[in-house]
Amino acid sequence: MMEAENFGLHPNSIMRKKIVAGNWKLNNNIEESRALAKEVAALVKAEVSADVQMVVCPVSVNLSTVAAEIDGVENLALGAQNVYPKASGAYTGEVSAPLLKAAGVGYVLIGHSERREYFNESNEFLAEKVKAALAEGLVPVFCCGETLEQRESGVHFDFVKSQLTESLYDLSEADFKKVVIAYEPIWAIGTGVTASSDQAQEMHKVLRDHVASKYGQEVADSTSILYGGSCKPSNAKELFGKPDVDGGLIGGASLKARDFVDIALSY
Ligand code: PEP
Repeated sequence: MMEAENFGLHPNSIMRKKIVAGNWKLNNNIEESRALAKEVAALVKAEVSADVQMVVCPVSVNLSTVAAEIDGVENLALGAQNVYPKASGAYTGEVSAPLLKAAGVGYVLIGHSERREYFNESNEFLAEKVKAALAEGLVPVFCCGETLEQRESGVHFDFVKSQLTESLYDLSEADFKKVVIAYEPIWAIGTGVTASSDQAQEMHKVLRDHVASKYGQEVADSTSILYGGSCKPSNAKELFGKPDVDGGLIGGASLKARDFVDIALSY
């Protein structure tokens, strides 16, 4: 069981929500999703401090199944992996924010690098998705991050800041405060290569300062910024030990309940 006092290790982030979200991606059929959700729910209930918000993001057709399994576990919420900006209409194959809300979804990933790369999602389009999610009371988990080339050529800070500027800075302060940011260096996603805790901290601080320059220090200090990219039980403690890292967006390791919960226990 985690101790509330552990949060004393993060003096700058005491007012920020700690979040550990699992992105199941295109994995798990209905029965596998049910079994994983059941196992995660039992472990979260038994072991994870109420101060840590856990989220699981299954494939959309399995949302309702997972919702039923995690029902009643206070700090375990349902997340979607995507949302379409329009509420309804002739948009074959898409899922809207009102439908996600009705299925019990509380969080939604927006702008994951795989959506940006394989589905050509632009910052402008992602801005529309963020607004649609907020209009339904869903928490957008806005993903951002640079390629290895961008990092090696030294444009990574400006590039990631521009992702925030172009997709989020149209929001009112009240709306921005509801957004969670997930910094996911593309070179670390699914590669087994994790950003060092210093690299993560450095980017998170740059992003927090960038938020402060637009919305003020108080808003920046209350914004949760998660790290994502090959995060696992063996490296989570070091990453989460950094003052500007407020949790994680976990891909591969979230497919094993024990690993996913062990990551949350790393605080
Ligand atoms: C992700 O896809 O958001 C992710 C962080 O994946 P992984 O943990 O597998 O690198």
